[in-house]
Amino acid sequence: MSLHIPTLLIVAVFVFCLMGLLTVHAWSRGREPTLGYLGIMLLLASLGTGLIVVRGVGVDFVALILGNVVLLLSAAMNWTAMRAFVQRKPSLPGIFAGCGVWLLMCLLPQFYASLSARVTLYSLLAASYGVLSALELWRNRATLEVAYAPALVLTLLHTAFYSIRALTDPGLPMKNAQASGGEGVPFFSFMLFESMLYAIGIAYVTLAMVKERAELRFKAAAFSDALTGAGNRRAFMLKGEKLLADCNRHQRSAALLLCDLDHFKRVNDSFGHPMGDQVLIAFSQVTRATLRSGDVFARIGGEEFACLLVDSDAAGAFEVAERIRRGFAELDLLTPGFLSVSIGIVTTTAAGHDLSHLLSQADQALYQAKAHGRNRVQVMTKMPTQVVTHSTGHTNAS
Ligand code: GH3
Ligand code: MG
Ligand code: MG
Repeated sequence: MSLHIPTLLIVAVFVFCLMGLLTVHAWSRGREPTLGYLGIMLLLASLGTGLIVVRGVGVDFVALILGNVVLLLSAAMNWTAMRAFVQRKPSLPGIFAGCGVWLLMCLLPQFYASLSARVTLYSLLAASYGVLSALELWRNRATLEVAYAPALVLTLLHTAFYSIRALTDPGLPMKNAQASGGEGVPFFSFMLFESMLYAIGIAYVTLAMVKERAELRFKAAAFSDALTGAGNRRAFMLKGEKLLADCNRHQRSAALLLCDLDHFKRVNDSFGHPMGDQVLIAFSQVTRATLRSGDVFARIGGEEFACLLVDSDAAGAFEVAERIRRGFAELDLLTPGFLSVSIGIVTTTAAGHDLSHLLSQADQALYQAKAHGRNRVQVMTKMPTQVVTHSTGHTNAS
């Protein structure tokens, strides 16, 4: 089967142009740089292919130089789009290196006159941009968090195609290509076909990666507290219930710590709201540094934080709470005596594995800690009114 090259050329120009415009439109909605560079890449591919068409109607010199310069810039934009996706800045020297080499070589009459030399150099430059694009994804795979494999495979296939072309394609005189006959036609038509498949594929998978990452970011934002970076109440309920169900299934104990900063209103009133914010951040840092990686920690209210400790009994939880209380009180952020926290503790052994129930029990213990003078840890053992043990701490400067 032979493919009609003039038809393929026209189709390619319009396909690249349409996809470029649609990608630029997608970029304009959220200003995601990756999509901007991808849109430019597709529009340049359309222009470069258009210049190949022009070559057939007599403006050979400009089209030969300019057409390949535009196509190499398009390949560079593909690389830049991948760089932007992995959060790297565009490299201007890198973008212009390909077409710079091309223009310099065109100054050599022997090179300019040799079709196969031109094909080899162009293919090598295009393959180099392919290698660079693949490297961006591969080097940053650990932090990408999205399905990058389709983009990597597509890029590698595209690169392999241009590498093979550099080694094997003797080139096709443009008049033969335009007539769609003569030697080399299958390779040339396959190249046009491949570039269309690649452009459609890479645009689709890049859009999918950008969308997947945006969803992950929205999800993370919906489950985290913007000020401290800790989880929010929603995250705590979700993760906490899962952790408690696991503990219940495997008959492991857990403990809930409910922390409420003491006289926090006074901190705000005395030192200002921004300093109050710094105190909240400092408290979450102290607490996070004290907890283990499997524990769940969240800011569940204004100056209220909760921690769910896995594999922890009352004595162990008390120790952890004491470390948090002391660590926070010892911060030298404000005048001594201003920073303190009260912590209520309840364990699954005493109150079962229902999170809402545990929270209300821990709240009772916290109430006791406040009633007994604040800056202390209070453990709820059996029933709220029955036994309250393990309390410690000092009344603060109130
Ligand atoms: P207590 O020892 O009884 O807990 O007294 P408190 O002053 O800590 O408790 P209260 O509930 O009266 O006040 C809580 C304060 O926390 C009031 C509110 O302005 C402050 N707050 C809540 N969220 C934030 C925040 O994001 N930033 C700052 N700076 N303050 C906050
Ligand atoms: Mg409170
Ligand atoms: Mg408080």
